[in-house]
Amino acid sequence: MKRDLQMANLSKQQKLDEIKKQIVDDKITPELAKTATHMVFGDGNPDADVVFIGEAPGKNEDLQGLPFVGAAGKFLDEMLEMINLKRDDIYITNIVKYRPPNNRDPEPEEKKAFLPYLQSQLEIIQPKVVVTLGRHSMNCFLPDLQISQVHGQPKRVKLSLKEHTGDILEIVILPLFHPAAALYNGGLRQTLIDDFAAIPVILKKL
Ligand code: URA
Repeated sequence: MKRDLQMANLSKQQKLDEIKKQIVDDKITPELAKTATHMVFGDGNPDADVVFIGEAPGKNEDLQGLPFVGAAGKFLDEMLEMINLKRDDIYITNIVKYRPPNNRDPEPEEKKAFLPYLQSQLEIIQPKVVVTLGRHSMNCFLPDLQISQVHGQPKRVKLSLKEHTGDILEIVILPLFHPAAALYNGGLRQTLIDDFAAIPVILKKL
């Protein structure tokens, strides 16, 4: 609570920087922190209407400290261009902020540990739409759904931010397949491109 009051006069970017520091101070997933080169907290426009959420940093992201800068990121950039968006127009982050060794899937406890910080990021940015990339990210918000059945379908959710301010944040979640999956499965590529086209349509309606 003390932190919330201290944060009141900061810009959105300054508030995000504070959350990043908090992850270090709170010693979140110390094992992952030990093997990581950099924390990958998030990047982009803190005033964005759209926030993209991936799983966890890979090798390139770990080296550069930035999300989606490898092969999956290149495909993401191509799809953004198709809908006339640039990285500067959006904000991108991951559930887990440190690279899991050998790119293994994030563990449930690791995702759980980072969730309050992800919620804080959303609380600060206040996006209209959250695009989840892959099932791990979708399941943070829509735990009972199967991505193969709901990809490309916007879902309205209420996020309870009780731990922070007691507020409820109403957002639209758009679950998409992970761009890395489309790199290995050619059939998914067109599906992902088609699903991406829903983003400007949803934004226009809101
Ligand atoms: N995959 C992710 O989920 N996140 C990244 O930042 C890069 C690849």
